[in-house]
Amino acid sequence: MAAVAAADPGGSAALTRRRLTILGATGSIGKSTLDLVERNKDAFEIVALTAQSNVSALADAARRTQARLAVIGDKSRYAELQSALAGTPTRTAAGPEAVVAAAAEPADCVMAAIVGAAGLEPTFEAARQGRRLALANKECLVSAGEVFMSAVAAAGTELLPVDSEHSAALQALAGAAPESIEQIILTASGGPFRTWSHEALARATPEEALRHPNWSMGAKISIDSATLMNKGLELIEAFHLFPVKVEQLGVVVHPQSIVHCLVSFADGSVIAQMANPDMRTPIALALSWPQRMTAPTRRLDLAAVGTLNFEAPDESRFPALTIARDALARAGTAPAILSAANEVAVEAFLARRIGFLAIARTVGETLEAAERQGFIKPVGALCDVLAADAEGRRLAHSLLARYV
Ligand code: NAD
Ligand code: MG
Repeated sequence: MAAVAAADPGGSAALTRRRLTILGATGSIGKSTLDLVERNKDAFEIVALTAQSNVSALADAARRTQARLAVIGDKSRYAELQSALAGTPTRTAAGPEAVVAAAAEPADCVMAAIVGAAGLEPTFEAARQGRRLALANKECLVSAGEVFMSAVAAAGTELLPVDSEHSAALQALAGAAPESIEQIILTASGGPFRTWSHEALARATPEEALRHPNWSMGAKISIDSATLMNKGLELIEAFHLFPVKVEQLGVVVHPQSIVHCLVSFADGSVIAQMANPDMRTPIALALSWPQRMTAPTRRLDLAAVGTLNFEAPDESRFPALTIARDALARAGTAPAILSAANEVAVEAFLARRIGFLAIARTVGETLEAAERQGFIKPVGALCDVLAADAEGRRLAHSLLARYV
């Protein structure tokens, strides 16, 4: 916790120039980050950009920003990347090790925006370098929370959460004394299926699940928002980022996604952060902290919004939230197994191999199987997390084999 930056952001004076690396530059968060960088060219110098397979988007971004290094994770696309960047000053590299090496290049800030467990090793590497880390990859906190926060503390890394709810919590907390905090309440939009019946959920298609009412995001997190697993993962994130106990963390459904988090204090005060739903707001804060930079987002007009609604989450229709809270309580390798099983189940749903309700069911059954087989144990190092991740995937795949 001590590593999470605690100062209140200062004014909006010209930003100090920063060297920035973007891991996962072609994704939803990566593109929003590049948008801010390109609107503030004097403030940023791009050290490295990485992507898994989209060579043309990576090469375009590298040309536009004059990145010093561009790395493609998929080695089979290396020749394509080399020819796309031939004659430019950008160096090129390929493969998972090169993505990790990119994270270690000297920079003032690393935006960690790779999706899933694939982001663990590069993000850990950036944390070990002791640089500012703008953390979007939630799996580092979910699967490896304790070891990740230890690595951050050991290197003196400044950690700025990019997830909108945690960015909101950071601002609402404003360095408050831990004993003065009563509760941190994350808001959830409720996703596209908030009002759907159990029967309708059973027939929900990937297209319907990907149609998020408020946010435009990558496929994996969009499905997680539809199941509410995303909010479960975010509870685990918040547990590691902020000085609170599990029972001080809550969730409230707020369909407009304007209030992102509420923090209540010992004196009865509740401080909330508001903004229109656009990831460029929390990304901007992580990039410019402790200053604030201009973000080109639609400004909030509460009179036009008129009403803000709040309701309790329905955990019988959306059991993923209960399952995630349970994994947090079990601790050790349980959250890593939860996250791995969820990645496998979401992929199977997107590939139309399983129905929507089978996502949470598969994750819950994977955790039960892991418990029975003795895979839920304490975590001492990143290798324990990677082993649990592999075990979670294996168990989830074997459970899914029943559906095909
Ligand atoms: P995305 O799918 O749009 O993009 C993922 C990026 O990771 C791409 O650049 C891709 O090339 C790269 N990548 C994928 N697999 C890789 C691999 N094996 N090795 C190296 N790179 C790989 O995802 P996103 O929506 O931008 O989300 C990124 C992270 O941010 C996730 O952890 C997500 O939970 C978190 N996050 C996203 C949002 C959002 O609004 N999109 C909000 C909060 C948190
Ligand atoms: Mg979020």
